[in-house]
Order: sequence, then structure tokens, then C-alpha cells
Amino acid sequence: MILAIETSCDDTCAAVVTRTGEIRSNVVSSQGVHSRFGGVVPEWASRHHLELVNPVVDQAMEGVDWEEIELVAVTQGPGLVGALLVGVATAKGLAAARRLPLAAVNHLQGHVAANFLGGFEPPFVCLVASGGHTFLARVEDHVGYETLGQTLDDAAGEAFDKGARLLGLGYPGGPALSKLAASGDSTAFKFPIAAKVAGLDFSFAGLKTALLYKVRDLGEAETERLKADLAASYEHAIVEALMLRVERALEAEHEPRLAIGGGVAANRLLRERAQSLGVPVHVPPHALCTDNAAMIASAARHVEPTPYPHYLALDAYATKRAA
Ligand code: ATP
Ligand code: FE
Repeated sequence: MILAIETSCDDTCAAVVTRTGEIRSNVVSSQGVHSRFGGVVPEWASRHHLELVNPVVDQAMEGVDWEEIELVAVTQGPGLVGALLVGVATAKGLAAARRLPLAAVNHLQGHVAANFLGGFEPPFVCLVASGGHTFLARVEDHVGYETLGQTLDDAAGEAFDKGARLLGLGYPGGPALSKLAASGDSTAFKFPIAAKVAGLDFSFAGLKTALLYKVRDLGEAETERLKADLAASYEHAIVEALMLRVERALEAEHEPRLAIGGGVAANRLLRERAQSLGVPVHVPPHALCTDNAAMIASAARHVEPTPYPHYLALDAYATKRAA
């Protein structure tokens, strides 16, 4: 079995997954402290990981014997470097104490690999849409992917979070905006979906600005009255912008198959749209879309592990790298 740890942002996560991809435990402890700041405060995230990581690992290990663990896996990057270092140091310590090998995993490959846990096997096109990244990938095997297109500015999750903030919905904004959108009319306002951006790249900055101007034009009282319609129209624009590129990517495939991943893949509208494309589509359960350690274990199954003690100098990295 594999014990995996994920601390790249504000969720402290640990999971135990078998070599064949059966999830024994998948524990996520979300740090509520960031909501009052309207975003993640990196230094606070690191400190909370430090407090939470051991109890979260203990909880993930409940009912599992340490003798059964043959590999420790950890997210090495990309993410907040201070937050990542807590996971990396913990994983090194746990692995070294038992002379176990360690697998360093790329967080984005983890979002892709969440789909392997559902038995969805490559090749497929994968849309990864999360808080920090949005890209389309061609997944040919279990170890990496080719990037087909990516966002030129904001990530889709960031667009949800910033939109939610403009509408006074708090943080994290994606789930809150989506919930409000369910009671609104998505045709009430027309927001841009950057259809003119050629190819498979995304752009969400114009959409965010369009909402900003709309809110300014409407004024406080009208914005409040039309909040659900604004949320529904804005959500619709984000999802359509994503689906436009997905459809373009699938058109170029001989045997089109689609998987989705990342926190935005938990979005109800996106899930429905993806599932009605008429091609084989895999949509992971919510808990495997937002940050979790089971997806890191899933990716780790296909990573060359580093034997003890060679991983003791392993470092975390903050920015995106090829998986
Ligand atoms: P990255 O993976 O790029 O490093 P991250 O790990 O912080 O970023 P995830 O946890 O994968 O991001 O996703 C979080 C994002 O998903 C947030 O922006 C959040 O608003 C968004 N999100 C979560 N649930 C939903 C939802 N139901 N609808 C829309 N967006 C959502
Ligand atoms: Fe993530």
C-alpha cells in the first residue's frame, strides 16, 4: 500500500491507496482560517499544515498496519513552497524512519491521475481546471501528458473565486457562486467567453473585468437584487469557455475520450455539460476533484521511487514544471 501526503495549498491531506488503486482512506482537513481574508495566506497555511499533518496522517493510517506500507508519496510541487515543505519534510521523516522508498509527485499529474482511480485508462484528453491552473492535456500513458492549451491569464477556479468576491460571496468562491447560480437565470446577462482566442488556449481575465463593470454599472442595490442571475450568467460563461476548448480538442481526436480534474471539475454545470458530449467521459467524484492525497497516491503508482536515503535532500518547487 501507498501512504500519500498532499499539502500544496490550504488543505492538509493524507491517503492510503493500494497498488491496484483501491482507496483505503482519503482524509482532507480544510483550513477555515483563510475565509476571513478572502484568500489563502501562505504563511498561515504552512503553520496550519504543521499542526494538522500528523493527526491527518494518523487518521489516514487508522486500521492500516505500518508493515503494509511499502511506499510513501508526497506532492513536490507546484504550490505554495512553505506549505509543500511541510508535506515533503513529513514524508521524508516517515519514510526514512522505516527505510521506505519515497515517490515525489507533481500536483497537476495528481489531478490527471484522479481519473485512473475510477478505472479510466489512457489515452484520453484531460481538462484540468483548478484554483491555480487551467489546461487541456493529451494523456497517452500513466506518467505524464502533453499540454495542448492553457490559460493565458487567470485560472478557471480563480475566475470563480474572483467573481464570487465581486458578488460578496466569500471564499472559496467556486462552490458558493455555483450554489447561488442554481437559482438564477443564466441568460440574464451575456459575459464574454473569449471565443476569439484561437486554438486551445483559455483566457478568463476579460470575463472577470466584464463582471466588475457590470456590478459597477448596476450599483449595490441592483447587484444584490440580481445576484443569482449574475452568478448564473457568470458561471455559464466560465463553463462555456472551458467546453468550447474541450470540444475543439476532441474534434482533433480519432477516438475522442474525455476526463476532467481539478477543483472546478466539482462544478455541477461543467459535469453535466461534459457528460452530455456524446463521447466516453470520466468525471471523478467531487472528493477526487478538489485537492486530496488519493490522487497523489494514484500518480505515485507510476513514478520511479527514490530509495532511502537518496530522497533526504529532496526539495519542493513552487511553479509549474513538466510532469
Ligand atoms: P492548483 O491545483 O492549480 O494548484 P488548487 O489546488 O488550489 O490549485 P483545487 O483544490 O484543485 O485548486 O481547486 C480549487 C478551486 O476549485 C477553487 O478555485 C474553487 O473555487 C474551485 N471550485 C471548487 N468547487 C467548485 C465548484 N463546485 N464550482 C466551481 N468551482 C469550484
Ligand atoms: Fe489542486
